[in-house]
Amino acid sequence: MTIIMEKGGGTFHGIKLLLCENPLPPIDEAVAAAGAELAQSNYYTEAYSAPLRRLISEQLGISERLIHINAGSELILRQLFDRFGRQVHLLTPTYVLFPEIAGRYTETRLSPEKGFAYDLANLAIPTGTTLAVIVNPNNPNGGTFDMAPLPDLLCRHPETLFLIDEAFIGLAGESAVHLVPKYPNLLVTRTLSKAHSLAGFRVGYGIFPEAVADDLNSHNDAYPLARPSQAAAMATLQHEDKIKARASQLHAWTEELAAQLRSMGVSTFPTETYFFLADFSPYDASGLADRLRDRNILIKPLNDPALGPGYMRITTALPEDNRRFVDALREIMAGV
Ligand code: PMP
Repeated sequence: MTIIMEKGGGTFHGIKLLLCENPLPPIDEAVAAAGAELAQSNYYTEAYSAPLRRLISEQLGISERLIHINAGSELILRQLFDRFGRQVHLLTPTYVLFPEIAGRYTETRLSPEKGFAYDLANLAIPTGTTLAVIVNPNNPNGGTFDMAPLPDLLCRHPETLFLIDEAFIGLAGESAVHLVPKYPNLLVTRTLSKAHSLAGFRVGYGIFPEAVADDLNSHNDAYPLARPSQAAAMATLQHEDKIKARASQLHAWTEELAAQLRSMGVSTFPTETYFFLADFSPYDASGLADRLRDRNILIKPLNDPALGPGYMRITTALPEDNRRFVDALREIMAGV
């Protein structure tokens, strides 16, 4: 049983398979490092999160000048949309934030018939597009894109900024980070909220062409991260081996949960992360979600009109909670 503070306040007692959160807590080293900072929080941390920026720079082999750190990647994504999002192209379904902050946008649909896979070599971007967004691995389906066609896309569309959201890259997929120094129209964002289990600490970063990084850094708060957040981030990044091992564990739980749903007649789609899409039709996903909420289990119906009402995105919980979720679903679907 998990006890969770919901966005906007309030406490929820139950099982949450909802916000693409990692069900595993931060690693012990992160908790210890953050805890040690608490008693020193009368002091500012180093300006612009310099030590974390240095560590990320060393680990990625990317100049510090290209790195921007802020309190969560959502904040960074909003800033990028504010600056560059005059004409946006999305690969849909996508992370719900993007349609919301884009307002109007053009789209390339990923189709259930292909398991939401897509060959980026076929991507056609309308003339005048200022920002094209690729989420890799993609939310809500959890699949990855083959990034081999990216350099060609960047060359063919010099007027378009390509934003690769690598929020889930710690779980699977091929990073585009190493291409940033070579292409002036490539932006990459990342977060420690997902594979690294630090969502509540709010740590995001971007790897950008120098002009973009300079612009965002010069408008940033001098102390974008609280001391405990910075310490937790550094401790976690120094234990990538643990994060990798946990990613395999999460993937196994996810596959197990998907297999159980399939055994109940539910269609599931391929994923390489710890969440996946399922089609419950002829059941209505919103109806099921309401009935599950009555049992203190929170789940997200997809609400994408192009896909029909049966779709849900499911994030694995811990195995014990997954079992309770499946038992509750069985009862609800059997009409008990
Ligand atoms: N990108 C994607 C694809 C996400 O799913 C999320 C959160 N669900 C974010 C970015 C934002 O994460 P955060 O603000 O915690 O860094």
